[in-house]
Amino acid sequence: MIEYRNLRVALLGGGSVGAQVARLLLEQSEELANRVGAGLELIGIAVRDVNAERTVDLPKELFTTDAESLILGADVVIELMGGIEPARTYILQAINSGADVVTANKALLAAHGAELFEAADQVGAQLNYEAAVAGAIPIVRPLRDSLAGDRVNRILGIVNGTTNFILDRMDVDGATLEEALATATELGYAESDPTADIGGYDAAQKAAILASLAFHTKVPLESVYREGITEITAEQIASARKAGYVVKLLAICERLTDPATGTEGVSARVYPAMVPRSHPLAAVHGANNAVFVEAEAAGDLMFYGAGAGGVETASAVLGDLVSLARRHVVGGPGFAASVHAELPILDIGQILTRYTVSLEVTDEPGALARIANVFGDHHVSLELVEQSIVPAQAQTASHEAVRSTATLVIGTHQATEAALAATVRDLATNSVVTKIASVLRVEGA
Ligand code: NAP
Repeated sequence: MIEYRNLRVALLGGGSVGAQVARLLLEQSEELANRVGAGLELIGIAVRDVNAERTVDLPKELFTTDAESLILGADVVIELMGGIEPARTYILQAINSGADVVTANKALLAAHGAELFEAADQVGAQLNYEAAVAGAIPIVRPLRDSLAGDRVNRILGIVNGTTNFILDRMDVDGATLEEALATATELGYAESDPTADIGGYDAAQKAAILASLAFHTKVPLESVYREGITEITAEQIASARKAGYVVKLLAICERLTDPATGTEGVSARVYPAMVPRSHPLAAVHGANNAVFVEAEAAGDLMFYGAGAGGVETASAVLGDLVSLARRHVVGGPGFAASVHAELPILDIGQILTRYTVSLEVTDEPGALARIANVFGDHHVSLELVEQSIVPAQAQTASHEAVRSTATLVIGTHQATEAALAATVRDLATNSVVTKIASVLRVEGA
């Protein structure tokens, strides 16, 4: 058997994930060496503060603040610092000095992935990033390798554990958004500034990465449509539940036909949507993640598990490391990012979806017909209309003359987002509508 020399592994970052990667590398060095066919020697861990207290007991002499020297002496660089800079510069330095790279940095890949993949391609370096989407769950390699011979039509992903935890608490306990967020913060699922999670920014970064992989097309972060969960109310969750749905924040990547031109395009978007309780994604509770893939030949596949956590994410990082180290020892170049399809990215207005709209309207003759006309004006057909009357005396204790109001819950058939949005805009100015209580999209039905 050929004996290969040890591969020198540099770790950039020794935080939640980095410290676990270092521990596993040291503890399982023999086993990993057998799997790779060469030893993996951890040559150092670059951090900001070498004296900071660590959650894992690691040899003090491994820590350094000199990331650049560490990179220059490495065969493989694992970037687990997070953020854009200096992570971007360090990864480029690693690639240009002949190292292969593993990263878990979704923010960096979503913003600068094209630049990094191009740099890696130019020198034949490998750049692996399984942990950048859905933590421990294998989804990047299944899309890149296992499904490389298939045609992915759609991905529905629960890729942000914090928002899934919050929406799950609202669904199961009837909590308000504020109460569920407070619990998430208390349990360490939400950061002190939760904007990246509840604003849908983190999920949008993952949607950009997944859509690029699934459709062999560069999908920049700016082209991902994004809505967070900040406007979701306990009432919306309760009425979705009553109707047999659960509300989930979804990252949706879809191959579709542009209704205007008949040509193929792709869409990547993030928003909260009603999912039928019978859909596999409805069973994803707590802070777990899941990615539901619809492929032409394979059919429906679901990948489920821990979307975050230091040791869980370290598993995906080590998988990337073993995979590229095997290739490194036999000397093959990395796979270039496959972006040959170059499909156009459709605007949110062009995608087809369904809405459930809840309205309060004055209870007068012809009100329902007037509402139906607004939908008809925009060629949106109705699938379901439910009406309940709120008698006038139930609304106020005063003696003012108050009309009864009716609550209408309207479910639409599929229509373009532009037509549905225009319908809602017109409903807002219609004189029989007193309030638009809720507008939610329906997915996975
Ligand atoms: P973290 O706990 O904040 O750790 C970051 C580490 O990087 C720290 O050790 C820090 O040094 C070091 N660092 C930061 N800036 C540096 C700089 N300029 N120079 C040198 N070292 C620097 O982060 P994490 O949670 O482990 O996340 C790491 C990456 O994994 C991120 O890209 C994140 O998005 C991704 N990820 C994390 C999870 C998760 O569950 N945590 C899941 C999936 C993906 P000090 O220790 O000295 O401060």
